[in-house]
Amino acid sequence: MPQHETLNSMTPLFQDQPMLMTLLRQFQDGILVCDSAGIVVEFNQALKELLKLNSAVLGKHAAQCIVQDDFPVLLDMALSTGEFFEKEISLKLEKPAIKKLYLEVRFIPLSLPKHTETATDQAAGKRADACIIIFHDVTVIRVTEKMRRDFVANVSHELRTPLSAIEGYAETLLEGALDDDAVRHDFVKVIHRHAIRLTHLVSDLLDLSKLESPDYIPILSPSSLVDLVESQIKELAQEKAKEKEIALRFHFEDPLPMVMADNSSLQQVITNLIDNAIKYTPKKGQVTLKARVIEQAVSKSSKPQKQSNQPKVKKMIQVDVIDNGIGIESKYFSRLFERFYRVDKARSREMGGTGLGLSIVKHIVQLHEGEIWVNSKVNQGSTFSFTLQVAS
Ligand code: ADP
Repeated sequence: MPQHETLNSMTPLFQDQPMLMTLLRQFQDGILVCDSAGIVVEFNQALKELLKLNSAVLGKHAAQCIVQDDFPVLLDMALSTGEFFEKEISLKLEKPAIKKLYLEVRFIPLSLPKHTETATDQAAGKRADACIIIFHDVTVIRVTEKMRRDFVANVSHELRTPLSAIEGYAETLLEGALDDDAVRHDFVKVIHRHAIRLTHLVSDLLDLSKLESPDYIPILSPSSLVDLVESQIKELAQEKAKEKEIALRFHFEDPLPMVMADNSSLQQVITNLIDNAIKYTPKKGQVTLKARVIEQAVSKSSKPQKQSNQPKVKKMIQVDVIDNGIGIESKYFSRLFERFYRVDKARSREMGGTGLGLSIVKHIVQLHEGEIWVNSKVNQGSTFSFTLQVAS
């Protein structure tokens, strides 16, 4: 049965059918209409997509179609009181993937004009003849709000530790330790260390906010990875490696094509990965940076190409930063690139880490249209790899 017939048959309220139907179909919010018994008589495409409904929903009780949260109770309330109200509900979709939806739902009960009102009608009191239910999807807003709240909580937490250490040691110095030759130097050193940590944190936060800004577009130009490493990265990295007696090596495929990159961002990526490799590798370990050309499959286009069955490939440069350090359990891989995520919080802080490095690195690589991933085994070492576009 065509959908409009259902509406048409319901009531004179829907007389102006074409206009009503257009409105219903064009509405970006999900809309469901049910009769006084709660039976679904209409729903629009937006709701179908939002809740992954199928047409079998027509003729069923609305509460059977949307069973989670307190929707059934709310629908019953709207129909029995005949009063308009709105409420936010959350629904968990199981298919095609598990997803939580946050929906602002408006219940608009309708009383349809009756030609002759019978005693039974009057006895029915305020019970609605139908109910229009509008579902406004606020999931993105709620998820973003949560991310913001978590971020502020994380930043505050990260700031609190160095700030209270600085406050505590400064107070102890002022209360007399300044005159104590045995401790004052050490106390000032602690204050200095925490101040540096604050500087790193603020600088990482500023980098992140720049990278996440929709207005930020890195200017990519052909660059030589070899020159960048030789001139801007190698010396400083060798110094850090030397402090831990770590053998730091660089292997570049020869010749290595130029890459499309923003030099200072690329420097930040490589420096960060080498710093981490050195940080999380015990004394006398090994850290190696390798760069080579790889062929990457291009995702299949929607139009299949007749002539060749060969998958299309494009050339990329793959950079691997390999260490034989503490390694990472595979269950943490997917979370490593999240802001403030650390496998071992205490160890990271002890090393002066902010927990933001890999998140910055991932943003930069993605802005370069590359990919980043990790392979690692506990106590054997880690390899952080990323790809870059070859300059044509
Ligand atoms: P941090 O400032 O803590 O180093 P990152 O974002 O750079 O923050 O890294 C996140 C976490 O990933 C680290 O805390 C550490 O647990 C893990 N990690 C990163 N690089 C390595 C590595 N080379 N070896 C082992 N663990 C690593």
